[in-house]
Amino acid sequence: MSQQRVLIIGAGQAGGQLALQLRQKGFTGSIDLLGEESSAPYERPALSKGILTGKQTTEDLLLCPAAAYSEQDITLHLKTRVKQLDLANRQVHTGNGQTLEFDILVFATGATPRPLPLPGSDLPGVHLLRTDADAMAIKRQLQDASTIAIIGAGFIGMEVAASARSLGIATHVMETGPRIMSRSLPAFLADKITELHTSQDNRIHCNAGLKGFNGKDQVTAVEFQDGSELKVDAVIVGIGVTPNTQLAETAGLACDNGILTDARGQTSVPDVYAIGDCAASYLPRYARQQRLESYQNANLQAENVVANILGTHSEYNPVPWLWSDQYHWQIQTLGFPAEAEQWLQRGTLESDRKEIHLGFTGGKLNTVVSIAEGTAAAADVKVLQRLIEMDAQPDTDQLCNPDIKLKALLKQTKN
Ligand code: FAD
Repeated sequence: MSQQRVLIIGAGQAGGQLALQLRQKGFTGSIDLLGEESSAPYERPALSKGILTGKQTTEDLLLCPAAAYSEQDITLHLKTRVKQLDLANRQVHTGNGQTLEFDILVFATGATPRPLPLPGSDLPGVHLLRTDADAMAIKRQLQDASTIAIIGAGFIGMEVAASARSLGIATHVMETGPRIMSRSLPAFLADKITELHTSQDNRIHCNAGLKGFNGKDQVTAVEFQDGSELKVDAVIVGIGVTPNTQLAETAGLACDNGILTDARGQTSVPDVYAIGDCAASYLPRYARQQRLESYQNANLQAENVVANILGTHSEYNPVPWLWSDQYHWQIQTLGFPAEAEQWLQRGTLESDRKEIHLGFTGGKLNTVVSIAEGTAAAADVKVLQRLIEMDAQPDTDQLCNPDIKLKALLKQTKN
């Protein structure tokens, strides 16, 4: 087993973590990590936050310095796109003419931002945001911008708006749906976050009927369906992503909005795994295939597949967690907030510096959304994650009382 050859397609967060952890946990076979970008594996969350505001540099985002891969006997192939997969002969063919062989293959190909199918979307100054290069291009434009439009009010769009506002730029978020973050949050929480943004003078336009973008050598305006225009210096489009499954689909792997895997991370083909944004994994806790797009998911799925490659049976069964920093507030979610049937609240942002919304389905606590000043809710969310993992159902009066420590409820549950 240990002399096998592992090949990873995609040198992003999940692929990089898998390579590093595999070696750290004692795998002695060869590891080839292939990625089409020119940077060594890095974490993306700061691309919409600290990179745009100048608080972080792209070097800060690297999982480890590029030299550490060769020091750990990991062959990192940058600027290398895998073009074709030959499963019968266990080979991949790259765009630069190489053929590499493997015994175990891991897809960590991530996702691609969806382009906006509107006239003028290809004008200079209309940006998508996925890579460090995208973020640096946006950062350069923000330096001279006075007004920008953000198309799409998901987490990334709202983070970009917050970053740009903190630089003093006028921001307009255009959302074609009736409210912000509609895929991930229930309406009352979307309204709360809308209020936070409007308190910072970010203008949010829901039900926006967009016609396209105007400009000659550079975008200069957003045009609406009624013919009116908003003058802008740049546009950032954040309308979701498509998982990178083309290679897997062509090779015959089962896919359905992601490469389908079992809870071990294995695809429909033995010894072929998929992790991170490209994978639609079976989540036993929710009894369904689910694609997750988060930092935690990329790390934990890498860890899970490392264990399985090393022969320890491991099943990925998370309570999904993600965070989003917007202005000086941090939003965290556990589970799938858009699906909860009933909500209770613990504390308020105004009096407790944090408010925690507790979501229930079938009477069971299974979802959380916290809104807090900075990391004020971080410890609480960790305890709630543990409670949900344990399927504990603490008394709701106690749960909603901010004077009762959640740690005490966890302790009670354990006893
Ligand atoms: P990626 O990191 O995208 O890596 C995939 C890599 O595979 C890419 O480098 C791609 O070029 C490469 N690739 C694809 N196809 C091929 C091929 N055929 N050959 C070679 N290489 C290939 N999550 C949070 O939890 N909190 C946050 O606040 C947060 N903020 C975010 C902000 C931004 C701007 C973005 C873009 C994401 C954010 N995320 C956040 C999500 C998180 O970063 C992703 O879930 C995570 O990066 C997924 O890792 P991955 O390795 O699956 O994909």
